[in-house]
Amino acid sequence: MLKDEHLNLVDCHTHLDQYSPDEIEEIIGRCKLRGVAGIISAGVNLVSSAENRNLAMKYPNYIGAGAGIHPMEISGDLDTRAMDQLFDLAKQKEVLCISEIGLDYEAASAEKTLQKEVFTQQIQIACEVNKPIVFHNRGASKEPIEILHSQTKGAIEIVAHYFQGTAEYTYACLDNGMYLSIAKTLLSMPDLQALVKNDIPLEQIVLETDSYPQPFKKKRSSWTEPWEIEKIARKIAGLKGIDVKEVEYITNRNANKIFGLN
Ligand SMILES: [Zn+2]
Repeated sequence: MLKDEHLNLVDCHTHLDQYSPDEIEEIIGRCKLRGVAGIISAGVNLVSSAENRNLAMKYPNYIGAGAGIHPMEISGDLDTRAMDQLFDLAKQKEVLCISEIGLDYEAASAEKTLQKEVFTQQIQIACEVNKPIVFHNRGASKEPIEILHSQTKGAIEIVAHYFQGTAEYTYACLDNGMYLSIAKTLLSMPDLQALVKNDIPLEQIVLETDSYPQPFKKKRSSWTEPWEIEKIARKIAGLKGIDVKEVEYITNRNANKIFGLN
């Protein structure tokens, strides 16, 4: 490993708005020093989506925003006014994707029918504004893939966020032309490592840290931040037996194509 080899990677999924506002400048400083060329910061509700758009306006050419309502943020009935507001936000130029949306079938989450309704409406918004989707899936098996496929029919790019799945799920995503967003879990999951090594082409990989504040970790310095994206890129290079610069080049090309970066 060439220690001094400087990388320029894109972190395709974070939640920067959730950090204290006075930390953002420092976080970005660390990222710029340590090989991060750009960051996408996703919303989980309307307020955080707007907040991420503000960050994108403050740091143009470095932060891009995602707008979306996370399945765990859904409560009560479908709010059509919220969907109108999301649509307005989704049209803004700083918003590069509809994210974070999806299905979450944990016991505490909202009722499945409602989740699917909210997910579907947000997919329709993405299609209307012609922007990619970065989706969340916990416990919903292939349901999100089926809904995404039936709604988009391949018209927009789709990214499976925080990807970790069985071989069957992996191929369901790949066969639908989706990109798989690989996070730090790659460093510790042998099954995922085997899939990345043998089954998932670099042409369908993007990188993410899913960074958000982690007060449950004792030391502030051990909170995940986007600069750690480099560890994922180096791991992929090692698994595939290729140069990390190739991982940089191809994953950046993927990110550019999906999000319209330059
Ligand atoms: Zn996330």
